[in-house]
Amino acid sequence: MLINEAELRSQWHKTKTDVITVPRGSVLTPSARDFLRGNGIRVVVEGEGVQDLDRRPMSTAKNPAPVAATAGKPEHQTHLHGSQLVDKTHPVIAWRGQLDQFDCAVVESQVQLVRYGHDALAAQLEEILRFAQRIMAAEVRETPFEFKTLLGWTPEQIREMSHHPDRYFGVTHSTMSYLDGPVVARLNILRAKVREVELSANRAFIDSQGNCRRTDIVQALNRLSSVLYILVCRTRSETVQEKKLPIGVSNRHVHLSAADLTSLFGSGHSLSKWKDLSQPGQFAAVETVKIAGPKGSIDNVRILGPVRKQTQVEISATDSFQLGVKPVVRDSGQLEGSEGLRLIGPNGSVDLASGVIVAARHIHMHPDQAKQWNLQDGQKVRVRVDSARPVYFEDVLVRVNPQYQGEMHLDTDEANAAMVDKNSLAVIVGG
Ligand SMILES: [Zn+2]
Repeated sequence: MLINEAELRSQWHKTKTDVITVPRGSVLTPSARDFLRGNGIRVVVEGEGVQDLDRRPMSTAKNPAPVAATAGKPEHQTHLHGSQLVDKTHPVIAWRGQLDQFDCAVVESQVQLVRYGHDALAAQLEEILRFAQRIMAAEVRETPFEFKTLLGWTPEQIREMSHHPDRYFGVTHSTMSYLDGPVVARLNILRAKVREVELSANRAFIDSQGNCRRTDIVQALNRLSSVLYILVCRTRSETVQEKKLPIGVSNRHVHLSAADLTSLFGSGHSLSKWKDLSQPGQFAAVETVKIAGPKGSIDNVRILGPVRKQTQVEISATDSFQLGVKPVVRDSGQLEGSEGLRLIGPNGSVDLASGVIVAARHIHMHPDQAKQWNLQDGQKVRVRVDSARPVYFEDVLVRVNPQYQGEMHLDTDEANAAMVDKNSLAVIVGG
């Protein structure tokens, strides 16, 4: 504890003794020492007895160990090679910092990739990280950098593939887009970072005459940036190739509530299965009904089972004109603001106040597939339908449920617009 003159004075004036006791480890300020000396007061350190104010150091604490002589390395300098000291702003030291930052970005990317299930790509980045660390070691030790392969590719293969992504991955050199997804975005950041490291290497290793003393390192960095570009192209290609789905075309149909089923088909009637639909548990029933609107009617509209909480009639926009009802586009179950019509069955009819919708185009998807493609339930995506007359569909709702399997559902108008047949595929091109 630090003891100053003011404290000593106030303590001494209470007792006026000629001996003052202070705790072990106390430190007396110079003026405190003068005060004690001037008044002939002796100081006793607890457990150590009377101290000689003239010979004793001010502090009663144990003397600290002598500070080790510094190795003579000023704070602003660091080792370049061996014991050679340079300023920390030296271009080679700056280059090492850039390479270090690249390593950090790789590791951070790996953390993200593993989190989202891209373990194979994370493993390839591990090889890239080791490659970068070998470059660093070669420079620090002043040894040549040997480049045989990276990710199994020779320098010649890397050059060839990065120049012709169309030939190897079926994608062209193209501008960056968020539509390529988070993995491609991340790889592009790494690629740009390597370019920075490469520029920094040029500053560090090329002298004023333009001679490069580490062409091996500059070349290795150049190949590294090409490899990252290859990974960008390959991932873009996989993204497009993988997000393909079959298409199911929904003809007009009716989902019935239990009460309406009874009204139309009689008490105790249950639906008979005609055939299973692609979504597990759903089936087309043998039963059909007639639907009638103000302007016209349509016979033999298929009923889909099982029964639901509320009756819903799904028609195409073309059907709505024939029936004379307003075509409102709705997600299944969202019946607010929709119009009604009359259902006519063998046992009676039901007048619906609402429930007639043009079903919004949508995709059914299992949670595993949604995770793999980085999609969420309720998300809207853009879909290209590959068919005899290809069409891009906007605002396609993704519905994720453990009961679902991957399939895009269009109504007959949409399917006819794209001339969809059983070989047509839906390709999610943005989400
Ligand atoms: Zn559906």
